[in-house]
Amino acid sequence: MAWQRGVVIKTPEEIEIMRQAGRINALALDAVRQAIRPGVTTMELDALAEQVIRDHGAVPAFKGYPGPYPYPATLTVSINEALVHGIPDGRELQPGDIVSVDCGTIYKGFVGDSAFTVGVGEISPEAAKLLAVTERALYVGIEAMRPGNRVGDISAAIQQYVEKHGYYVPREYTGHGVGRQMHEAPQVPNYGRAGRGMVLRPGITLAIEPMLLVGTYRTRVLPDQWTVVSADGSLTAHFEHSVAVTKNGPLILTTLDERQIVD
Ligand code: MG
Ligand code: MG
Repeated sequence: MAWQRGVVIKTPEEIEIMRQAGRINALALDAVRQAIRPGVTTMELDALAEQVIRDHGAVPAFKGYPGPYPYPATLTVSINEALVHGIPDGRELQPGDIVSVDCGTIYKGFVGDSAFTVGVGEISPEAAKLLAVTERALYVGIEAMRPGNRVGDISAAIQQYVEKHGYYVPREYTGHGVGRQMHEAPQVPNYGRAGRGMVLRPGITLAIEPMLLVGTYRTRVLPDQWTVVSADGSLTAHFEHSVAVTKNGPLILTTLDERQIVD
């Protein structure tokens, strides 16, 4: 069917490799999570993630990724109003910041792509609620990844959950197919209509990644040409997993938890 053009169905063996790539990616993100504290620089976090990835015989997927210029780092680290694609630098994390860390790993030719947002020290109740809703929105999306459902069912589930809580999703940045390429068909928007789009079937692997903004769905790109921020400067958050559709339901690939069929 035309609208399935370009979608790559993975074999069980390929999904197992993607699980290994996802596990290495999860180890890198776990190391970063444990290192996050006031005073650490985003460059230090980046070096830590790259070390974990390379120690496992894998390669950072973001480094050199094509864009306005090749992406220069292993992580994207996006603080407060920065939604995605923040470039690590000498900035020190401050108490009360919320920091979104996104990481991609290539292992044996396959990509794992995952992200989380966490507070630095004490954060405001408003920030804490944003993080909780964003993380839950990820699982709301994942739970819709069942054979026979459509991509629009994932999008609609995320959008409805997010908007019910008074938050916004961006229009320009979406989830995506993932596999040998970090970004494959189909796009998986965080907004849409149930019952529309590609039918899901076993072997389809998607990166589900709700991105939430407190005050607006509008974004803009900073002069560094990569960092995406909320247009109004309001707080943002981002969670992501790479997930396979199986006959038993969704299987999260970018996790250290072995019990991850949501069934
Ligand atoms: Mg990502
Ligand atoms: Mg992604």
